[in-house]
Amino acid sequence: MPTVPPMPIDLTVTDAPEVAAATASAAGDFERIARELDHAAGDDAGLAAAFASFDDRRRRWLTDLAGVRLRYLQDTTDGSRVEAKGVLDAGVPQVATAEKAVKQRLLASPARPSLEARLGPQAFACWGADAEAHDASIAADLVREKELENAYTSLVSTATVERDGAPQTLSEIAPRLQSHDRETRHAAERDRWSIFAAHRERLDELFGELVTVRDRMARARGFGSFVELGYRRLHRIDYTAHDVARFREAVVRDVVPLASRVVARLGRERGLDRVALWDEGTLATHPSLAPAIARERFVSAGIETLGALDPSLAEFGDFMRERDLFDVAARPGKAFGAFCTMFPSHGSPFVFANFTGAPSDVRTLMHELGHAFQGYRSRSKVAVDYLSPTYDAAEIHSMALEYLSWPQMERFFGASADAYRREHVLHALLFLPYAAAVDHFQHLVYAHPSATPAERNAMWQDLERTYLPWRDYGDLAHPLAGGLWQGKRHIFLAPFYYIDYALALTCALQFWQRAETDRGTTLDAYVALCSRGGEAPFRELVRSAGLASPFEDGLDGPVAAIRRTFAAAS
Ligand code: ZN
Repeated sequence: MPTVPPMPIDLTVTDAPEVAAATASAAGDFERIARELDHAAGDDAGLAAAFASFDDRRRRWLTDLAGVRLRYLQDTTDGSRVEAKGVLDAGVPQVATAEKAVKQRLLASPARPSLEARLGPQAFACWGADAEAHDASIAADLVREKELENAYTSLVSTATVERDGAPQTLSEIAPRLQSHDRETRHAAERDRWSIFAAHRERLDELFGELVTVRDRMARARGFGSFVELGYRRLHRIDYTAHDVARFREAVVRDVVPLASRVVARLGRERGLDRVALWDEGTLATHPSLAPAIARERFVSAGIETLGALDPSLAEFGDFMRERDLFDVAARPGKAFGAFCTMFPSHGSPFVFANFTGAPSDVRTLMHELGHAFQGYRSRSKVAVDYLSPTYDAAEIHSMALEYLSWPQMERFFGASADAYRREHVLHALLFLPYAAAVDHFQHLVYAHPSATPAERNAMWQDLERTYLPWRDYGDLAHPLAGGLWQGKRHIFLAPFYYIDYALALTCALQFWQRAETDRGTTLDAYVALCSRGGEAPFRELVRSAGLASPFEDGLDGPVAAIRRTFAAAS
């Protein structure tokens, strides 16, 4: 069995006793800083000194946190890593309580104007949201929420279906969903949904309790529903659920009809009698689309791509290559998916992925490099809060780089690069309505926390008719009964996060369009946006990059460009 590669960053907290000690030490240090602030908060110098030690301590704590989580995901079958992660999950609420005590004192300090003049208002806005969201009185529910989330992760990563006499997990089924052979894809979808059908009751039970626990925490914090608490957790400072609802309406009005037409037309072009769920993923894929280089070459080709795009990206690529800040090979025991994490004390990003040699690996690589570039550019920000922005803005950095690297895709795909680019656009077109449906569903679920499993499935089916009217599940019983949402892990693990991808994609597509006419200034604007990190809220970051807000007319340009792409291709 392949082993976990050595970590290029020196991590001092790895096993369970070290995690317990680090958790107690962080909580203790934050409590001490809070006490110091009780004496020093009134004068500018005292507040500045307390903030400096708070910020430095948080960088170390967040570094420990990132290390323990990363090590667990690198090998979820290693008992000591699992145990360390468990100790961490149990200790996080205690540290959050101690951190909140410091944040409240910084917020209420008479000397706040002097610190705010140096940091800007965004850090204070984030701390205010944290103070509203968290309280020691909900610590037990926070731990319970994490347990339920872990139970979902463990269920979906270990559940199997029998295929050709051998058990297969969801991640083993995944490559077959993209097969060029239609019957293989159909069988893979049957396998995937038979797993969810077999565990339907347990999944309903887990989600039902998650909704109850989240709703209870929201009410304990004085909110009318979990929607408000969920928005504060995500630091949504400058827009509301009402703005997001307007964005979803624009998706229904402008994107859904175009997506329906493109799906029908591509189906006809492919000679399909119907476009079933198992056809959607490969609808724009040319059967010959495959990377022209081995997956072992992906990372170096990605670094070369950065080098060809812009001098700042080139310098960052050298940094990543020299330190080998990647773990991208798929192997047994490694968690599914891809992400970029940041080690604040080291000023260093790290990219985690599971490459199998699929075309989508290339998109994932550029995506995670975009996150990593932003983290690298923001590593010396004045507050650790600014190391990365809220997810809505963070996903702009990643998705925009996917599109800005288009001219370099011959490096990966040779003569098939155009097929890759066309597939990339279709992916965006079909993703926007799906993300809006996932988001709308969560708003309904948390507005009606006592809904039964059958009522939730009916809510989802109702939304499918609005957002995904082309959807054809054929003989897939579980999705036909309204159960598709159970396969979306964000619904269980990261409430309200999912629309951030759609908001960011709307912005990334604008970068794509601008680069078509003026590549140089567009890359400058991209680098400038990444360099701002999280020093401002979403709308302000978007405005400062010269992009139209998704809450206003941000979709207009992208929709027109997508329409042109598929009009030209017919
Ligand atoms: Zn991302």
